Amino acid sequence: MVAALRSGGIKDERVLEAMGEVPRHLFLPEAYRSQAYSPDNSVNIGEGQTISQARVVATMTEAAQVGPDDRVLEIGTGSGYQAAVLARLARFVCTVERIPKLARSAKQRLDALGFENISVKAMDGTLGWRAQGPYAVILVTAGAPDVPEALLQQLSDGGRLVLPVGPREQQVLKVIERRGERFMARDLREATFVPLIGRFGWDVEQ
Ligand code: SAH
Repeated sequence: MVAALRSGGIKDERVLEAMGEVPRHLFLPEAYRSQAYSPDNSVNIGEGQTISQARVVATMTEAAQVGPDDRVLEIGTGSGYQAAVLARLARFVCTVERIPKLARSAKQRLDALGFENISVKAMDGTLGWRAQGPYAVILVTAGAPDVPEALLQQLSDGGRLVLPVGPREQQVLKVIERRGERFMARDLREATFVPLIGRFGWDVEQ
């Protein structure tokens, strides 16, 4: 998988190393484990949700430029895989998930794998997690209709927000960097995520 990601254009060796170390198959339901290391598979993890394709995880993580002293917030824990990759790179990862059952199983899985620098909470992540912030990196792994303002406010100066924004069917992955009270945005690529549902996301599941 790492070789495929590298030849597909992922250059950051720290990201490739982290993804090489996290056992992705353990984040998938048993029936799908044989597909765990193909870079373009997004797999159903129950509750109508999916684990993102490895290539998308790599692209978002690389764009986030996670440093070893960084505090990171992830919105959309899902299986916990992206949180595990982030935790290999950062000092501490806070991750929030709106479906309590997924939050619980992700926490169990991450604990069993020995991750001690991840905190999982079941709540609406469109409000961020102010009490734990500010964050050098915020990564959203569900598609947002717009950029949630609370997330911009919880970035530290110089911090990066990486998120998919756009209609339910297809989004554009954006990186927004905070410089004081200014926010500079650039687009990475198109991608399709499950919807971000919450107060500052989509209203209801369809
Ligand atoms: N990062 C995950 C992929 C998650 S799929 C992984 O590595 O496996 C997106 C997840 O976002 C789903 O589990 C969905 O329930 C969750 N989600 C959607 N809206 C949310 C919200 N407002 N707050 C927190 N989580 C949300």
